[in-house]
Amino acid sequence: MKVTDAQFVISAVRPDQYPQDALPEIALAGRSNVGKSSLINRMINRKNLARTSSTPGKTQHLNYYLINDQLYFVDLPGYGFAKVSKSQREAWGRMIENYLLNRETLKLVLLMIDLRHPPSKDDELMYDWLKHYEIPVCVVATKADKVPKSKWAKHSKIIREALALNSSDPFILFSSEIGMGKDELWSMISAAIQS
Ligand code: GDP
Repeated sequence: MKVTDAQFVISAVRPDQYPQDALPEIALAGRSNVGKSSLINRMINRKNLARTSSTPGKTQHLNYYLINDQLYFVDLPGYGFAKVSKSQREAWGRMIENYLLNRETLKLVLLMIDLRHPPSKDDELMYDWLKHYEIPVCVVATKADKVPKSKWAKHSKIIREALALNSSDPFILFSSEIGMGKDELWSMISAAIQS
């Protein structure tokens, strides 16, 4: 997909603030700092439309980005940040769960996992939960440029096994730094929004 226009639309805290135009949505989930903002910026060829956060976990909002008047990227709040309180975590859970289960325009969730590390318990729970509810999900292994190429296969296998992916479950190696995986991910998104 050739991105000709991308804009930040809203940082939504309540469902009544979500866009009403029924365009397809691609949600990004993953722990804080995994590289969600960087991925959005790379996908749309912008340096800084999505804010890359130095304060992980701070945003408790759903950030909507409109691409080509055609689809939305929805940046979900990052999970697994130790410093949030239990009540904040619960509020986060309710909001995300509600969004993921009830948003009819949601076409695909990108579950983002840092290629350098095995998935966390939260990553595993999130993946199992999405599969259980049959929500389409693509695992995106981020920061591939930080792992030597000779170790990509090994690190990918660790992630795939921890999440119990089978060979047909989508998995993309990605690097915002060098643009790796961008075309493959756009193909996946294009297919998802046409379904
Ligand atoms: P978010 O909290 O998930 O939105 O994560 P950010 O996009 O803010 O990224 C967190 C940190 O990781 C920032 O310092 C980014 O520059 C860095 N980062 C994100 N993606 C990549 C990548 O593909 N390669 C490298 N080397 N660094 C990355």
